[in-house]
Amino acid sequence: MARHGGGRGWYGKVLGAALGVTMLATGASVWTAQAGAVGNSSPKSAASASPAAVKPVDVTIAHASDKGARGVNITIDDGPDPTWTPQVLDVLRQYGVKATFCMVGTQAQAHPDLVKQVVAAGHRLCDHSVSHDTTMDKKSEAYQSKEILDAERMITEASGGVRPMYYRAPGGAFTPYSRKLAASRGMRPLGWNVDSKDFERPGTDAIVTTVEQELPNGPTILFHDAGGDRSQTVEALRQILPWLKTQGYSFGFPVR
Ligand SMILES: [Zn+2]
Repeated sequence: MARHGGGRGWYGKVLGAALGVTMLATGASVWTAQAGAVGNSSPKSAASASPAAVKPVDVTIAHASDKGARGVNITIDDGPDPTWTPQVLDVLRQYGVKATFCMVGTQAQAHPDLVKQVVAAGHRLCDHSVSHDTTMDKKSEAYQSKEILDAERMITEASGGVRPMYYRAPGGAFTPYSRKLAASRGMRPLGWNVDSKDFERPGTDAIVTTVEQELPNGPTILFHDAGGDRSQTVEALRQILPWLKTQGYSFGFPVR
């Protein structure tokens, strides 16, 4: 693909596509925030929130921690879930840990109260697509765009206007196109270094051991708060978080 040719490259297309969705999303979130704050909302205020306020970020997949060499990033995927997200939030609160929640759009839409709790506790939001299609890297650009931008809108509306700061492709199914689109919306593509394998429910001890053994791979650790019984994840976090502290790690967010 020509990077600079003709002015009809991906960026123009992405920007055009993103712009329409942005106006909708911004208008809706301002409406929600204002309705909550003062019980009033005016089209004039909504229009003043310009989509130009979104600052593009780097398109490469982030793994590093903003806390540097002894930082770790706790990332929690696939929620929010009414049973497990509150338990995960409790453990994080108990150990004073801030995490990054990669939310599925429909889950966020169904549980806006949980999205707001996550934000209020100081955690960050990450767009994890609408339908968690792990083969979306094989699908059309139009499909990828809809999955990413619709989820961005669902999460932002559910949070009351707080935007996701990252985009994690389901199953890591990134494409150059999806990374650029996310980055143009201020969402840094987010990878992981350590898969705790908690999704497979191998037992709490196995989850803890996997994290301890694979931590030399890098700082970004993957857990899940939805998609089935996550009691092992909750118990594993209860052991891993204090262990990380005794090892001298501090808890940060993925770099943007
Ligand atoms: Zn996932």
